[in-house]
Amino acid sequence: MRHAVARSGLEALYFSGAHKLAGPFVGSVGAILRLHHVRPARSDKFQPNQPLEITPEFLKTLVRRLQRSGFAFVSLDGVYRRLTEEDFNRRFVAVTLDDGYRDNLDWAYPILKQHDVPFTVFVPTSFPDRLGQLWWTALEQVIAKKTSIVLEMDGRDCRLSCGSVEEKYRAFEHLYWWLRSRPSESQMLDIMHELSARYGVDMAAICDRLCMTWEEINALADDPLVTIGAHTVNHLILAKAPEAVARSELKMGRVVIEAALGSPPRHLAYPYGDPVAAGPREYAMAAELGFLTAVTTCPGMLFPEHRARLTALPRISINGAFQRGRYIDVLLSGLGASLWNSLCSGTPGRGAFTTPHRAATSTSPAASQ
Ligand SMILES: [Zn+2]
Repeated sequence: MRHAVARSGLEALYFSGAHKLAGPFVGSVGAILRLHHVRPARSDKFQPNQPLEITPEFLKTLVRRLQRSGFAFVSLDGVYRRLTEEDFNRRFVAVTLDDGYRDNLDWAYPILKQHDVPFTVFVPTSFPDRLGQLWWTALEQVIAKKTSIVLEMDGRDCRLSCGSVEEKYRAFEHLYWWLRSRPSESQMLDIMHELSARYGVDMAAICDRLCMTWEEINALADDPLVTIGAHTVNHLILAKAPEAVARSELKMGRVVIEAALGSPPRHLAYPYGDPVAAGPREYAMAAELGFLTAVTTCPGMLFPEHRARLTALPRISINGAFQRGRYIDVLLSGLGASLWNSLCSGTPGRGAFTTPHRAATSTSPAASQ
């Protein structure tokens, strides 16, 4: 439903021509795009994490449309330089992909290479270390294979029906947000491990199948177009963790990448990245630890004022639920972020445009990893 509302909002903005008028007035200087998976569309009817993936064809459309619109594609070092030197001669855009999925190498890289587009992949080091817990994918798989699920929620045994596709979506949305609201990350993961074990879903196999190995990341990093960024070790909701844990996650995430690739990452993405997952404490830590930039999942364009907030930069989510070329024009006019924000206002954690790894702005669980 929220997708439908958002889609009609995007259509209305596009066909009204408002996005063409907005550019000069909105005054943004550039944008950082946020992607996750890039892979061919799947035919399954139940795909709650679909906002986290776009097709290779849409990535091509995105790149060509932005090139035609006159945007300069830059790396995150380029974003840092432009913001700090106030070089705003040409609007710029940086491509980032979160989590280090293997499809980034298989599908996104050839397209971005062909078009000479620099990009950053943010890697939580537990993923290539094969200790990653992609609980949002495990939850999708549990619900996909069962017609009902039993689990203890808030001290009561609950049975959730998930026979029909509609029931599956409802169960996913409900469980996703209930899990995200657990007081601690370890509690959330304990529940997810128990659920996965009970219903025969192998979380280790998910990590192995979906995420790049260190060898693959190294091969990608050899290309000067590629920046490998930090994304912590365990992909935790940092703001929920004690200060020492959050600091260690940020620090070790960088140390491990340096050990694997030979140079320390200069840029960081906060896991989940919404205001619930990263706040002023994390922004300050990232600056203290020496990251040049750190990106959130809060929707927005870049403005000259971001020079003073380099460790709290917004991004524009390229969401798999909205794969149409004309939406790109609206998003990059700055009006898209306003639409996102208005659709999401008042409901932290649920917006029109994110998902698990989602920001305070998404439509279905699953857009902000
Ligand atoms: Zn992530």
